[in-house]
Amino acid sequence: MKHAVILGAGFGGLELASRLSHSLAGEVRVTLIDRNDAFTFGFSKLDILFGRQDAAAVRIPYRDLAKPGVEFRQERITAIDPAALHVTTDRGSYDADVLVVALGADYDVAATPGFAEGGHEYYSIAGAERMRDALPGFTGGTILIGVLGQPYKCPPAPFEGAFLLHDQLVERGVREETEIRVIAPMSAPVPVTPEVSQRFLDELEARGIEYLAKNRVVELDPSGKEAVLESGERLPYDLFVGIPIHRAPAVVEESGLAPKGWVAVDPDNLMTPFPDVYAVGDVVGLPMAKAGVFAENAAGVVADGITARLHGEELARRYEGEGNCYIEFGGGRVAKVEANFLGGPAPTAQVVGPSESLAADKESFASTRRARWFGG
Ligand SMILES: Cc1cc2nc3c(=O)[nH]c(=O)nc-3n(C[C@H](O)[C@H](O)[C@H](O)COP(=O)(O)OP(=O)(O)OC[C@H]3O[C@@H](n4cnc5c(N)ncnc54)[C@H](O)[C@@H]3O)c2cc1C
Repeated sequence: MKHAVILGAGFGGLELASRLSHSLAGEVRVTLIDRNDAFTFGFSKLDILFGRQDAAAVRIPYRDLAKPGVEFRQERITAIDPAALHVTTDRGSYDADVLVVALGADYDVAATPGFAEGGHEYYSIAGAERMRDALPGFTGGTILIGVLGQPYKCPPAPFEGAFLLHDQLVERGVREETEIRVIAPMSAPVPVTPEVSQRFLDELEARGIEYLAKNRVVELDPSGKEAVLESGERLPYDLFVGIPIHRAPAVVEESGLAPKGWVAVDPDNLMTPFPDVYAVGDVVGLPMAKAGVFAENAAGVVADGITARLHGEELARRYEGEGNCYIEFGGGRVAKVEANFLGGPAPTAQVVGPSESLAADKESFASTRRARWFGG
């Protein structure tokens, strides 16, 4: 029996383990490794931030994973040797016939001096909890939301944060005393296509939220409450919210798989230059957005690729970088962006909705995945 080792039990790793469990039962056994004891959907951080759910309620423990042929190990991966298909962890080591790197992206908070002391973020569970607890103390002034680097996960998420923050401040009666400014390196929000960007610009404008394009906060001065821009200009703030700089996990950087910062893959089948070593999700360096739905889709293509190679066949389809991402505009309005980054000569994308049915679809999104990934 062949041994597939999947590094990381996030969106991509869970989807792949589930697919292999079904499609290659009896032919492949899977070891799924993650340092955490539970999975949490990215968008659950917004639920935590705005007090709709607490962290305990959104954690899905890996001990509930009941997939035939899949063994979960809670271990920290310390070294990856892609040429030897060998992995070392804090508890042991593994030899694989097929190796899949699905380790996501790490946050480099320290890369922005002053950010840890003087700012907030909601991209981690702990950060979302801290910001949730700090928000009641904000009673008016300037909120700066800064995208600190590119690429970052879920391109709409900084704007969803702004829309939902707007709602909360309106509800608390302090929106009129508050200025909200989003500052980001992109020429427009969610710049996959001009139409999608325009939609976000319209939604921002409707709420009186300013978008400062092609600008980046490189440092915070927490004592003076000023954000320092790349240009040297300084912007005052009362509350700073940053989307941290993302980078590949150190263990991936050290493996030689990511010579340009993110893992290099063949965009058609997601195989790295090392035979039988694949990568999916945020850790991959492709010209497309980082989001769970894309990681999930990539995992489907890799599952088909592994099956094809095992059976001596050709992979019958190629990866197109497609996916549908839900967006919260606030006030219960849920839309989605339907995107395809790699299927044609240029990316295509459109915003659909908002509508009540999309709000219902978003509700069932997590439970459908939970059942597919964790159920037997
Ligand atoms: C606020 C917010 C909102 C979002 N909203 C959406 C959304 O609506 N739709 C959407 O599709 N995406 C959304 N995302 C993005 C989504 O969460 C990520 O893109 C997705 O999780 C990427 O999947 P992945 O499998 O590549 O990585 P991850 O899901 O991050 O999984 C990587 C795993 O690797 C593990 N790991 C890392 N290093 C090690 C190590 N050394 N040893 C062991 N384990 C390790 C981690 O613990 C983690 O479980 C959102 C993200 C945020 C922050």
